Order: sequence, then C-alpha cells, then structure tokens
Amino acid sequence: MIKKTKSATAFKKAKTFFPGGVNSPVRAFGSVDGDPLFIAKGKGSKIQDIDGNKFIDYCCSWGPLILGHAPSAVVKAVNKACSNGLSFGAPTVQENELAELILKNNKYIDKIRFVSSGTEAVMSAIRLARGYTGKDKIIKFEGCYHGHADHLLVKAGSGLATFGTSSSAGVPEAFANETIVLPLNDIKAIEKTFSTFYNQIACIIIEPIPANNGLLLQGKEYLQYLREITQKHNALLIFDEVISGFRVGFEGAAGLYKIKPDIITYGKIIGGGMPVGAYGSSAAIMSKIAPEGNVYQAGTLSGNPVAMSAGKAQLSQCLKKGFYKSLEQKTKKLCDGVNQFAAKEKMPFKMISVGSIFWLRFSKNEIKTADDIDPKSMNSFRKLHAYLLENGLYMGPSGYEVGFVSAAHSDEDIKKTIKILKEGLKKIMN
Ligand SMILES: *Cc1c(COP(=O)(O)O)cnc(C)c1O
Repeated sequence: MIKKTKSATAFKKAKTFFPGGVNSPVRAFGSVDGDPLFIAKGKGSKIQDIDGNKFIDYCCSWGPLILGHAPSAVVKAVNKACSNGLSFGAPTVQENELAELILKNNKYIDKIRFVSSGTEAVMSAIRLARGYTGKDKIIKFEGCYHGHADHLLVKAGSGLATFGTSSSAGVPEAFANETIVLPLNDIKAIEKTFSTFYNQIACIIIEPIPANNGLLLQGKEYLQYLREITQKHNALLIFDEVISGFRVGFEGAAGLYKIKPDIITYGKIIGGGMPVGAYGSSAAIMSKIAPEGNVYQAGTLSGNPVAMSAGKAQLSQCLKKGFYKSLEQKTKKLCDGVNQFAAKEKMPFKMISVGSIFWLRFSKNEIKTADDIDPKSMNSFRKLHAYLLENGLYMGPSGYEVGFVSAAHSDEDIKKTIKILKEGLKKIMN
C-alpha cells in the first residue's frame, strides 16, 4: 500500500474548515475508496502528493491542463504578468491579445466576453439567450452538466411531470419550472416540447460532446437537427464547450462537427489553468450585452491580466501545427492498447474517446443517454480506481468522469498506462 498518512492528516484538518473537507464536491472521493490525496506539485504528465507518491495524471485538473502541469511557456507568461500587478479593474491589452488569438482562429464566433468560470459563462449565455429572444423557458438534457447556476441544477421530473425538478436544495421550484429537461438523442421529445411550449423556448443548451456523465457521444445528425429545429422556432442553440472547447480542436466541437450554434461557452482550457470562462456569439447577439445592450453581466476580476496571459500562452501552443492530431493519436494508442486486451478477454469494458478525452466504459454496449449507464458498473470503476492509485495512475475519482491526455504525456507514459490498466482490469474482473 502506498503511504497516505500526510494526506489523511491534512484531510482531517480540512474537514474542520470546509464542508466535506473540500472546496468542490467531486474532489471528496465520495464514490471511490479512501480519502482524497493532497497534491503538492505537478510537472508535465506527473503529479506528486504530500506523502511523496508520484502519479501519471489523467485528471489534469478536470480538463484545463492540455499542456500538462506547469508548462514553462505558461509559467513564464504568468510570472511576467504578475510582476506588473495582478488586477486593475480597468482594461488591459492582455484582454485584447487573448480575444484576438481566439477570434482570429475560430470562425464560429465574432465577439467574446471573458468571465471567471465555466458556471458564470453558461449562466450569462442563458441570460443572453433569454434577453435576445424575449422568451423564458430553456431546454437542457439529462446527462449534461452546465455548472451550478440555479436554473441549470434541474433534472428530469418523474413520470408524467412536464417540468424538471431541482437537483439541489435551495433552487426555487419556480426556477426549475422554466427548465425543461429531456433525454439526449431523442428527436421526438424535442418536437413535442416545441409544440407544447409554442413560442416560449428561448434556447436549447447542450454539451455537444457530453462529457460530464460518462462520454455520451451524440451523432452529428442529431446535433444538426438541434440546429435546424431551434432556427425554425426562433430559439437559440447554445453549445456548452467548457470541456470540448480547445480540446477536440481549436474550434472545439463546433469545428469538429462543422455546426454553428448561436452562442458558445468556454472555460477550463481557455485560462491555461487560471480561472477563466467566456461566451461568444455573433456581433448582433453580443450587442445585447451591457454596456452596449440591456442584458446585464459584469465581473470584478473578469479578464484580469494574469489569467489572460496564462490563456494566451497556453492557446498559442495549441495553435501549433499538428498539435491536436498528435494528442488524438496518443489517446487512440492508449485506448486501442487496452481495448484489444479487453476484447480478447471478453470483458464488458471499452475505453471510448474523442480527441484527447476518454472514458472507461464498463459496458459492452454503445451508450448515448444518461439512463443507459448501469449504476452498478460504478462498482467496477471503484475497484479499478483503487488499483490504479496503488500503481501510479491518477484518474478523476468517479466513474462518471472522463480522463484527459495532455501534450506532456509521453509514449512511455502511454505504454506504462496500458500495462497498468490491463493488469488492473484483469484483477478486478476476476
Ligand atoms: C466544468 C463545466 C462547467 C462549469 O465550469 P466551472 O468552471 O466548474 O464553473 C460548465 N459546463 C461544462 C460542460 C463543464 O464541463
């Protein structure tokens, strides 16, 4: 067993400070064995905890770290920005520079607004959609996560209930009533909703690559259908690309599927590891945002020069020729290596991936909706997770979460990972 005494002590202390000992729930190891590890440092593909254990990291801070940990280009840019002051609450050229880099290389948006988290980006995008269309109701999907704003913490109602029910205490029923939650990959459900709530739907919001509840890859035709039905009903289509943006390509899922939504939200990678989110759209729709328009949205630390510099340094690397191709190939090599083994051993398991996002699917069958995931399969993940930690692989502590390959993962890392995953699967499946 690896040594975990310092982490255990730190967690005990953390529990006296924070609810559940953490500042974001999924960190708490609630669905895997043991206590969370406290991380001391990271470099490239590796992290080290405060007991000195080293791991190849596939959590990558839940997605932002596409270059791996502490990449020198980003660290240098942050240091330089810091020495000139951390925030001014007045415009800086660093905001222009990051915006220019993004907009020049993304044909799906004309204008952008920076905020400080993915939650904030999505919350603002929904307000913009409502302000622009003058309608209140929104459609979201079971199996997509859009941050923790009130009207997005809503799950499908049971039985014949038309409206969603809140998935958190503290969300007024009246808010939940404005959110309609539908299953993914179900065209009939959408048609029915548009006819029931004729002219009341402001927008459909979807993770075009749903990656917060397993990896529920949708067909391009389905996403194209969402594009067309929203246009037909004067509703907006929002792609929440907080994970997929700058991950499956510089232009994210919009670029991958060649579909132009009305608003796109970003987060995670865009800030190079610093707290940044953003939403972008056409110049016409963005003109509704204050101070140009009457949809209010603001932020004291929005676009602060340190975060902007980190984002610019990271995204500049992503623009290098072959960057995404190489990430995808590495990820494919990892998945193929494990999948060949699992198929030979006839295990109900497959690693599925898109770009450099992967998911450990404990099922033989293709899964496109949240309902199709068997909760019992999470028991297998829990066992595998413990084995991987013992053997030097760090994955996000939940079987519903995806993993990320970064540019810093070496061929050697991938080879070692395949070996450990194979051994782990063999152990837990018998
Ligand atoms: C992570 C995530 C969010 C929330 O972003 P935070 O920065 O955690 O607030 C929203 N949408 C999607 C798709 C995400 O993956």
